[in-house]
Amino acid sequence: MSLRRVTGGEVVRTGFGIFARHEVRAGHVVVRLDRRTFERHRAALDRGEPVDITSEAGRTLWWASDGLYWEDEGLDAEAVGLLLWDRQRRHDARLDRLRKIRAAEEAVEGGRRARIPDEVRAFVWHRDDGRCVRCGSEGDLQFDHVIPVVKGGGVAAENIQVLCGDCNRRKSDSIV
Ligand SMILES: [Zn+2]
Repeated sequence: MSLRRVTGGEVVRTGFGIFARHEVRAGHVVVRLDRRTFERHRAALDRGEPVDITSEAGRTLWWASDGLYWEDEGLDAEAVGLLLWDRQRRHDARLDRLRKIRAAEEAVEGGRRARIPDEVRAFVWHRDDGRCVRCGSEGDLQFDHVIPVVKGGGVAAENIQVLCGDCNRRKSDSIV
């Protein structure tokens, strides 16, 4: 791992007024920044460039817009910025995949909830006399949601009707 986030690392302000200074704290390593250095660093961060804070024992402490990082390959600011950008990009892609998986699972769950119970089917079949309620056909019959599930229709008997395939397709075509 060439780039490791500093857990608990922080950049804090100490002192007040003209005595205000900033400190970069990463475990036992504390680096004091005078005002001019701090402002130069802030400007670099605003441009999206990570800042080299200090080096010790073959590793470099970087301050990036989302935190502090130790890096031990002697990389320059551009390389560190690229690695962080790549990390963020993969993180975003992973979240995107997770959102899609969750949406797909919720759709399956919704489909299960929308399944018409057997007792409702039996009741509706009897009520509608085993025929299409629109044309009276007795062939290719289906149970139809009067108000579609995606529009909030439920699976109670009053929202279920018997339709033939042709009437069901015509109804679907007319629903925008
Ligand atoms: Zn019909």
